[in-house]
Amino acid sequence: MNLKNFSFETDADGIATIIWDMPGKTTNLIDESAMDDLDAIAERLATDAGIRGAILTSAKEGFCGGADISMLTGLNLLVSEAGRDPEAVEKLYNGVSRLSRVIRKIETCGKPVVAALPGTAVGGGYEIALGCHHRIAAKVPRARYGLPEGKIGLLPGAGGTQRLARLLGASEALQLMLKGTIPKMSGALGARLIDKVVPKGRLLAEARKWILANPGAAAPWDIKGFRIPGGPPYSKSGMMTFAAANAIYRRETYDNYPGLRALMKAVYDGLLVDIDTALRIEARLFAHVLMTPEARNMMRTLFFSMRELGRGARRPAGVKTKKLRKIGIIGAGLMGAGIAHVTAAAGLRAVLLDRDLEAAEKGKAHTAKAITKRIAQGRATSKEREAVLARIHASDTYADLRGCDLVIEAVFENRDIKTEVSARAEAVLGRGTIYASNTSTLPITSLAATSKRPENFVGIHFFSPVERMMLVEIIIGEQTGDTALATALDFVSAIGKTPIVVQDSRGFYTSRVVGTYISEGHAMLMEGVPAAMIENLGRIAGMPMGPLALNDEVAIDLALKITRATKADLGPAYPGAPGDALLEAMVETHGRLGHKNRKGFYDYPKIGKKTLWPGLAKLLPPVKPPEDFDAEEIKQRLLVIQALETARCFEDGILTDVRDADVGGILGFGFAPFSGGPLSYIDMVGTGDFVARCKALETKFGPRFKPSALLIEMAARGESFYGRFAPEKPAREAA
Ligand code: NAD
Repeated sequence: MNLKNFSFETDADGIATIIWDMPGKTTNLIDESAMDDLDAIAERLATDAGIRGAILTSAKEGFCGGADISMLTGLNLLVSEAGRDPEAVEKLYNGVSRLSRVIRKIETCGKPVVAALPGTAVGGGYEIALGCHHRIAAKVPRARYGLPEGKIGLLPGAGGTQRLARLLGASEALQLMLKGTIPKMSGALGARLIDKVVPKGRLLAEARKWILANPGAAAPWDIKGFRIPGGPPYSKSGMMTFAAANAIYRRETYDNYPGLRALMKAVYDGLLVDIDTALRIEARLFAHVLMTPEARNMMRTLFFSMRELGRGARRPAGVKTKKLRKIGIIGAGLMGAGIAHVTAAAGLRAVLLDRDLEAAEKGKAHTAKAITKRIAQGRATSKEREAVLARIHASDTYADLRGCDLVIEAVFENRDIKTEVSARAEAVLGRGTIYASNTSTLPITSLAATSKRPENFVGIHFFSPVERMMLVEIIIGEQTGDTALATALDFVSAIGKTPIVVQDSRGFYTSRVVGTYISEGHAMLMEGVPAAMIENLGRIAGMPMGPLALNDEVAIDLALKITRATKADLGPAYPGAPGDALLEAMVETHGRLGHKNRKGFYDYPKIGKKTLWPGLAKLLPPVKPPEDFDAEEIKQRLLVIQALETARCFEDGILTDVRDADVGGILGFGFAPFSGGPLSYIDMVGTGDFVARCKALETKFGPRFKPSALLIEMAARGESFYGRFAPEKPAREAA
């Protein structure tokens, strides 16, 4: 056997130890050459009478990170370029089903095969482990196991949907796979994704022991009389499972995700037949999903672009990486406290400064509270809490900021206070310290105007809640230097979040686009569209919440404040928005500020769910019956207005990279993830059709839908954003 990625040794007892160790890679991945090897290994196991059993393990830290996604996109491209001609489709089917066939060959080799997992096994890597007869993992608490494919628009395609459903039952397997949950070691053991956990040094010995005790191992589903846990679809419990799963699927996805729909179908149809037929059903569904634009766009944005941005795609070349050690945070309120928490949790030291020590300590207590909650959930230890807290120094003294590599200001959104704070900080900071503002509305260039070192000044815009939101928007002011940008990017990478880089302007990128979604909701109210209809259609269109609920979250008085500031700045050029008077009345007359005072477009009772505020009707023209409106048009309006604003940001140079637009759109404001982001949405509709939609909406609803010059030009030339503005890619090396 001539293996490129594995070593294969058989001992005196006839037990083969197969060690996966892809040359030149830090992680094992499944590509063509790994599949060639696995195929040869399966053949050998089946045919070599001297072999009694095998241990499949890895020399890397983890077992396997899954399929090489570029291999999958390559197959997708093959079909889109060949225009779905039968030959290309067949090639695609054979390509995507190969791993499934190889795993089946291992599973049916007739000898017991144990997956001895030194660490993480996810996606295709976990599917290989599932095809083995037993799964033993090393005691590595951070290691993760499971099938995350659903998260990037796919379904597990190498037997995962079939084996997991037969192992755990349809209900549990669907819950894990639809959400793409990949629990850490102890969670995985509890969920029975792995069979046993042993100390790392015992891994191979335990695997051996199992082989010797189970000489004739076959998968449970290959043994006569096998019963599916929880019953097959046509059983009383099966009927209940699938009826509920279908309802949950609809509620969570509004059927916008072809990958998840196929996943449900694969499990349902697959459990009606034998495993071999089931694997073919799964492979066909997988190939079908791979051909959808949704899968292509989601893989591109949520896998490649996110990874590229996370790995410094926007980092200025030529600035040396500096290891960040000490970060200053001024303002220990909602945002500052969260920033201190994520900083310290990432192993960096944080100085958390406020006007007085009491306020600073209160900010630090936020971290203590958050980790205590995690301890109660069994997700952290008190030792970890103490270590993180020891890295946060609460202070009211600017001199404590000395020696910081980066200082982030998160005081009140008030220009005078921010100016005073930056001057006091600069007085103690060294020349090399980078200074960032977390402002949500004030242009960075204007804040940097009073700075002695404007080249060191940058915007680092976090989202709330800081711990949960994965996106950070970095804003380049007119004078921001490369070192400041690089430091901001290095910091975001150190805390494990995804950065996008945008140019300075009113609302930057994310706030500006989100504003259009919210305003469109207001405009609909003024047209007499029932509020519930607007909210439901927002979610059905793919947004995480309706525009009115979102306005409540970001605060209605903030929306009013921003409108007034825009009006003041633009003067007579301010075009006005249909909901301006409504905002005024909500805040000024009725004190409805949003979720924060439990009174917004919704009422927020102390106990129970929010409900639409009945008083809203009095502020609006008479509500018309839902039948008077075209639901499809409302859905389109809510997405088109955001995509159009994103295209304008691109045209204005606020966005300079399509990846920032799409990753920021999904992670920042939840733009219909199935589309791959606002620019991918335009590409998916087609620029020609998108411009036509804009024009039709412009005629009916006004100039805010006027397509921009760039869009019109692209439509005329038949261009797409990813065609014309494809970012210069680093070599797409494997995940
Ligand atoms: P907050 O009111 O919760 O906290 C502000 C903190 O700054 C308070 O602890 C206050 O005591 C402190 N502070 C005020 N003046 C100070 C001074 N002179 N010196 C030191 N500390 C001072 O506000 P927040 O929601 O955390 O917002 C902070 C900044 O982050 C604002 O610029 C805001 O626009 C921005 N922001 C907020 C959000 C959000 O969702 N809340 C999101 C992104 C950005």
